[in-house]
Amino acid sequence: MNRKTTYITTPIYYVNAQPHLGHAYTTVVADTYSRFSRLRGDDVRFQTGTDEHGDKIVEAAAKEQVEPRQYVDNISAMFRDTWPLLTIDYDRFIRTTDEDHIGVVRHILQKVYDSGDIYFDEYSGLYCTGCERFLIERELVDGKCPDHLVEPKEITEQNYFFKMSKYQQQLIDHITNNPEFVTPERYRNEVLSFLSDPLDDLCISRPASRLDWGIKLPFDENYVTYVWFDALINYLTGIGYPDGERFAHYWAGAEHLIAKDILKPHAIYWPTMLMAAGADLYQKLHVHGYWNVDETKMSKSLGNVVRPAQLVEDFGVDTFRYFILREMSFGLDASFSSDAIIARNNADLANDLGNLFSRSVSMIEKYCDSVLPEPDGTDSDTVLKDAALKMIRGYAQHMGDFKFHLGLQAVWEFVGEANRYIVVNEPWALARDESRQVRLHTVMYNLGESLRLLALVLKPVMPGTAEKMMHGLGIAPGSDVMQTLERGGEWGLSKPGTALQKSQSLFPRIDVKKRKDAAPAKPKPAQKKKKNGGGAIEFDQFKAVDLRVARVVAAERVAKSDRLLKLSVLAPEERTIVSGIAGSCQPEDLVGRNVVIVANLKPVKLMGILSEGMVLTAEYKDENGNDRLTLLAADQSVKPGSRIA
Ligand SMILES: [Zn+2]
Repeated sequence: MNRKTTYITTPIYYVNAQPHLGHAYTTVVADTYSRFSRLRGDDVRFQTGTDEHGDKIVEAAAKEQVEPRQYVDNISAMFRDTWPLLTIDYDRFIRTTDEDHIGVVRHILQKVYDSGDIYFDEYSGLYCTGCERFLIERELVDGKCPDHLVEPKEITEQNYFFKMSKYQQQLIDHITNNPEFVTPERYRNEVLSFLSDPLDDLCISRPASRLDWGIKLPFDENYVTYVWFDALINYLTGIGYPDGERFAHYWAGAEHLIAKDILKPHAIYWPTMLMAAGADLYQKLHVHGYWNVDETKMSKSLGNVVRPAQLVEDFGVDTFRYFILREMSFGLDASFSSDAIIARNNADLANDLGNLFSRSVSMIEKYCDSVLPEPDGTDSDTVLKDAALKMIRGYAQHMGDFKFHLGLQAVWEFVGEANRYIVVNEPWALARDESRQVRLHTVMYNLGESLRLLALVLKPVMPGTAEKMMHGLGIAPGSDVMQTLERGGEWGLSKPGTALQKSQSLFPRIDVKKRKDAAPAKPKPAQKKKKNGGGAIEFDQFKAVDLRVARVVAAERVAKSDRLLKLSVLAPEERTIVSGIAGSCQPEDLVGRNVVIVANLKPVKLMGILSEGMVLTAEYKDENGNDRLTLLAADQSVKPGSRIA
């Protein structure tokens, strides 16, 4: 058996803060990808953990008046306690204070030192304690570290350096020859652009006299290892580098997942370290954006740090998992708010999926005595079968490409199709007609089989919900047809005669009004009900229009039309909008511009292209008196997807 191996990792989280939404997102993505990889038949290993050395930890421990060891034990435990609440199923939780990790770090340091890629030198420079590194002049803003807003201290030290510069060209070549090494592409470009300047060597030690909370260098006990050189190696330790069986087995399938703030250590330090250690590079680095909370960046000082445990309590674990995967286009920033998660819960989950499930199951109960009926083999109705197979193809493609929002979009298109199927086929009318029982049974079977396939594809995203669905459908969790897409992703594998189980509703609606009433009342703006006559609209009507800033990422003429342009815009998810502006604008002038769109306009097909939304324009006359259109613009600094109100 030559199964593909997948080794997915999260970063090991720095324990100077408790787990928050950002950590939860990364870890849920890794868990979903791990489960998805199993579903596509891979042999999978999934690792997460905590990063526990460095002077920021010593500072944080001192603040709480505990020893660093006790401090890291406490915070690391908070991470370990959080993950089961989010149904995270990892294979190893690694800590950089683990014995085997310390051994591997010292092994690699010695190896690289022996090969001549580590040298001793004097260095003087501007050191920022917050960053735990020397800053270079051009990084400073008004003489201060831009991240910590303090002036770095000028210090002179003797330290050990890793010859990172030696591997610069080799790294550029590797990234150039392997387009998927860093994804999405914008981050690959960022790395290549960084590498277009000469790379400095990396200072990899700290004098033990200044910092003793770290791994001692094997060749000089007066120094401890720089925290990044230590931390990155966890990915090797966790699978038994250098001689472990797991290392031999899984390393070839290594995919790292990170947030964009740690791109440089992962895309530059880490591969050059691997080159120096004589190890193969990882396969892929997947980079995601930030969550903004209620449109501002999450920060302790703003008091808007979102705790995962609280979210699970408020909304339920599967609603939370679904929301973050559906709402964020992987790679871009996204916004988190209670209103947005409630809207997704009530529309996508309670209404679309939940109703489909409960209606279908209760009809099978009512019309077929709770037993999945036999479909008519001669019936030519393949509406749901075709839609289901299309869904599985789209889902598998997008999930494998880390485009989770598109994978879920494909699934929900099918959910919509199945709901329409009920409306169109009116099973209640078939049930009243004695002569149409065979057709009724086929319709019921098709719905039951659709639900089985939905449970199959939702397993990685919402494991608990998938299990509830299987239970309701009378399918054993260990059932062969529910293990992989290959074995279960075909139409018609549900067995007629299977007894359905009584099941509860999948997703209760969340009552927005109740939640609002429970919250401290905000002063309501005085409502004026004034008859304005004419075409005046109520404020609510205006509010129903979802106006957003969108960034044009691609534009082209629509074939056989001299009026239409096809635009791809980010708002913040990518979507296609067809707009009648070809007479006034050149496609190439539009790319990169921020425009204004109506985001919730019902999609329409124009010249065979599905257009999702409308670009706002203003009419004017040019110098020759011809009618022209100009696009309403938003300032370039506004993030794509920002609401206009
Ligand atoms: Zn700093």
